[in-house]
Amino acid sequence: MLAEQLTGQVTSHLSEIGNNILVHSDVAPEFEALQKAAKIAGFNLQIASGFRSFERQQLIWNNKYAGKTSVLDKNEQPLDLLPLSELEKLFAILHWSALPGASRHHWGTDFDIFDPNLLPAKQNLQLKVCEYSSGGYFQELDQWLSENMALFGFYRPYQTFLGGVAIEPWHISYSPIADKALQQLELSLIYDLIIKKNVLGKSLICQQLPMIYRQFICNINQLHYGK
Ligand SMILES: [Zn+2]
Repeated sequence: MLAEQLTGQVTSHLSEIGNNILVHSDVAPEFEALQKAAKIAGFNLQIASGFRSFERQQLIWNNKYAGKTSVLDKNEQPLDLLPLSELEKLFAILHWSALPGASRHHWGTDFDIFDPNLLPAKQNLQLKVCEYSSGGYFQELDQWLSENMALFGFYRPYQTFLGGVAIEPWHISYSPIADKALQQLELSLIYDLIIKKNVLGKSLICQQLPMIYRQFICNINQLHYGK
């Protein structure tokens, strides 16, 4: 992938599937195959969030950094940013939100998935762990994905907590292309982008980038076949 594709600045590698959802052109047929298998198993597998641009991720980031939208703690509860140091604030945001330019959603290989048919009436999708875990309305879909998605090349990079990004059972990734994208996404590429963009906290980000790169970008689960 080109540097601009890796960092969400262009859409030339994407195709549209479903309602306005953009995904990597080579991943679209693979996802549709997974979706078809899910349908046979009784699920309506849909993407809540596919491709996300640099600008969109920058807006999410800046709103959190400026305190315009809430930052959650590790228990998914709103966090008071005031008593935190700048570095603690940076860590707290990175637990849930990717650095602009380093979101896996830029690649079009990664999706947040759900089943609208399993969502209770008048309930909005929250993307919270309780929805996908034991007793949650997506538990059976989650189980089915655990047993079947590797056959289609998909896995969960945030399956378990490794000290960086939070557990995200809804986030799946197409390994054959995403693994290459991660290899291509070099630290210097992110640095050169952040330095020229309007990302809040950028001097601290640039200073901490080796740590961010190691702990939040490269520190992910790998594809496991079977259960
Ligand atoms: Zn995601």
